[in-house]
Formats: sequence, structure tokens, C-alpha cells
Amino acid sequence: CGIVGYLGKQKAFPILLEGLKRLEYRGYDSSGISLLDEELHTFKKKGKVSELEKFEDALNSEAQLGIGHTRWATHGKPDDLNAHPHHSGNNRLALVHNGIIENYSTLKEYLVSQGHEFKSETDTEVLVHLIEEIQETQNLDLETAIRFALKKVVGAFAIAVIDKEQPDIIVGARKSSPLVVGVGEDEFFIASDATPIIKYTNKIIYLDDDEIVTIQRGKEVQIKSLENEMVD
Ligand code: GLU
Repeated sequence: CGIVGYLGKQKAFPILLEGLKRLEYRGYDSSGISLLDEELHTFKKKGKVSELEKFEDALNSEAQLGIGHTRWATHGKPDDLNAHPHHSGNNRLALVHNGIIENYSTLKEYLVSQGHEFKSETDTEVLVHLIEEIQETQNLDLETAIRFALKKVVGAFAIAVIDKEQPDIIVGARKSSPLVVGVGEDEFFIASDATPIIKYTNKIIYLDDDEIVTIQRGKEVQIKSLENEMVD
């Protein structure tokens, strides 16, 4: 039900944790955070956001990039496994999602036939495996693979995705579910609404439907349509 992402020069975990707490008002049943340094580390738990403070490895992590989520379960009960972020089968990608993937069962059938194994009961996990499948079979960068995947998806979503092979970017996208980007000094934020961001920057970009955003260390924020046209 809430998304937050950070990419910058500070330790990501405390910023993401605080961001999730600011999104608590939206309602949720579980939460989670993925941190990316050389490896992808995911910490998730049913219950209050403060449960995440019990993960010593997360507290000690120096990672400067990560994504977080508060979940309001629609597909699959609220528990640790169904909590987001969800990983791809190759543990290269982590994804958080707000909303519903309506055609998830058709997509899941196809992905299972391609050898994908699922760990959760969520519609969301189908999306991260679909991106993986496209990325692996067509050897595509993260942004392009997400764009292709979203063309096959029916439903409402806001997503944020990170990729171990592209450790300095976060890609986000939305359709019928809000997503905003914050641009600070040498740091970027992505979130469901501005509340986790306003403390750090007043430069906020509100994404429109069918837009995909790439935030990258040292680069300008890049927004495209799902048709691959640049958006100003
Ligand atoms: N449909 C997804 C799930 O049940 C996301 C729910 C949400 O927006 O938090 O896991």
C-alpha cells in the first residue's frame, strides 16, 4: 500500500524505515525493505514497520540504495513470505508493488511452463518473474525489460525495482496508482506520495499514468512513456 525508495550517499536503511513509518497512515499488514550493495538483501515481516528494526544486518548495512514497502494484502494472506519486496528467481531483481495485477494467473501459468518457481501467493511475484524472463531471454537492461513486461500486464500498479547487475539505478512505473520522485543534492527518492520525501527536498516530480522513471546516480531523472517516448 506504500512504496519508498532511496538512492544517494547516506545509509539507505534508516531513511527507508522512516519513510515507511510516514506511510503507515495509508494502512498495511506487513512491510519490507531490500538493500543493494554488492548483493541484494531483503528483510520483510508481517506486522508493524517497527518489526524491521529487529534485523541487525539491516541496521548495520552501509548500502546506499534500497526500496521499501508497506503491504495491504489483496492476493495471498498477510505473512512474511507474501510481504514485499519480491525477488526474481535468479535473485537479481527485487520489486515492490502497490495495486493489483488482474491477469496474474494467466501470466503465472506461462511463467511456470517456462520453469519459474514461485515462493509466495501474491500477484506481485508474477511481475518480477515476468521482468526476469524478458530480461534473460532478450538480454535487456532493466528499464527496457520493465517496459516490455508492463505491456503484458492488465491491472493497476505502482512499482519500484532494483537490479543487482545495475547497482546504481531504481526504475519506477505507474498506472492508476500514485508514484512521485524527489530530487535532492546527490540523492533521489521515490515514493507513493510526498510525505516520506518532503523532509529532504522540495523538488518533487509527480508521475502520470503509463510513465516509467529511471533514477540513476549522477544522472538527470529520466521519464519515458511505456511507448519509449521521452517525457519532459
Ligand atoms: N496485490 C499486492 C499484494 O497483495 C499488493 C498489495 C498492495 O498494494 O499493498 O501483495
